[in-house]
Amino acid sequence: MKIDGFQFARSSSELAGVIDAAQLPRLAEMQCRTPGIRFRLKGGMNDRGKASLGMELSADMELVCQRCMQPLAFGLKIETDLELAKSQTEIESADDEVDRILASRSMDLAAMVEDEAILALPMIPRHEHCSEAAPGAVPAVMESVQPAKPVSPFGVLAALKQGRKKG
Ligand SMILES: [Zn+2]
Repeated sequence: MKIDGFQFARSSSELAGVIDAAQLPRLAEMQCRTPGIRFRLKGGMNDRGKASLGMELSADMELVCQRCMQPLAFGLKIETDLELAKSQTEIESADDEVDRILASRSMDLAAMVEDEAILALPMIPRHEHCSEAAPGAVPAVMESVQPAKPVSPFGVLAALKQGRKKG
């Protein structure tokens, strides 16, 4: 589904529904399973008098704990306000804490929702009280339920971060 950003804001439009799993390929790649993300989008003006999109998201998600590689339940809950920007330059040159999104006449709703969800995911998902040993020391009995992809994108991210710190 596409929306015209400025038009949506000007007319104070509202839209609600569910973005289903089939429209969330990047989350799937990150080993994040969800039946769908419930969304509510509301166009309007923010307190700076700029066109903006208010976005509320919620979803039941299942991530993979990076310590024990077992499923980890995660409740996504986001309430954000995105100011519409006319250009990428406007976003990059802004020197403040305002969240902006590049507006166009055909903004892809599913991609917008997925972007926000990805930003809200923990960098390294882990059970709060994880009882398992470090990765690699998986009990033999668990082997049959190991994820097909042993290298998680989260692990790669973490390694990158680590490398930068050292460098
Ligand atoms: Zn765990």
